Amino acid sequence: SESCSNCYRVVLIGEHGVGKSSLANIFAGVHDSIDSDCEVLGEDTYERTLMVDGEGATIILIDMWDNKREGEWIRDHCMQVGDAYLIVYSITDRASFEKASELRIQLRRARQKEDIPIILVGNKSDLVRCREVSVAEGRACAVVFDCKFIETSAAVQHNVKELFEGIVRQVRLRRDSK
Ligand code: GDP
Ligand code: MG
Repeated sequence: SESCSNCYRVVLIGEHGVGKSSLANIFAGVHDSIDSDCEVLGEDTYERTLMVDGEGATIILIDMWDNKREGEWIRDHCMQVGDAYLIVYSITDRASFEKASELRIQLRRARQKEDIPIILVGNKSDLVRCREVSVAEGRACAVVFDCKFIETSAAVQHNVKELFEGIVRQVRLRRDSK
């Protein structure tokens, strides 16, 4: 909520099938990889408090991007409500990587003059033989985007905890520099 100074709304965006919901499910603790209890606020929204660098942070994770039932307004909504964004692509799908660039541009347009924390997430890093986007390309893209970069695997739970800790750190960096 607005009154909570350590609560951050983090929004997952990216092409269908890249693994957003899989990452959200890990966050939600279906596989119990992160420290504390999770509250499921709705079908597409999860809340959980993490300890990051000795300080608690509550993430409200929003995974509504692909929710077609609600119609197109949901994407505009997603673009407006995030305190931070995870732009996800699959390292096995170049089109999803190109889509990530489009989304970065849309986000910049939607939130002009705001310095929004973003992490570019190359998911499915376990699928080494199907890789279409190199680590170097991902990293270079993040430099252009002026954001952080991480490769994750929801399937083998690699770097997922680091991803959520990373977004908390990005939000804090901006908060502390104000
Ligand atoms: P979303 O449409 O972005 O929410 O993607 P999903 O989370 O539904 O994942 C789409 C498909 O990719 C599912 O079959 C997942 O099991 C699979 N998937 C998601 N993340 C990974 C991953 O890190 N590695 C592998 N091998 N498969 C994944
Ligand atoms: Mg999904």
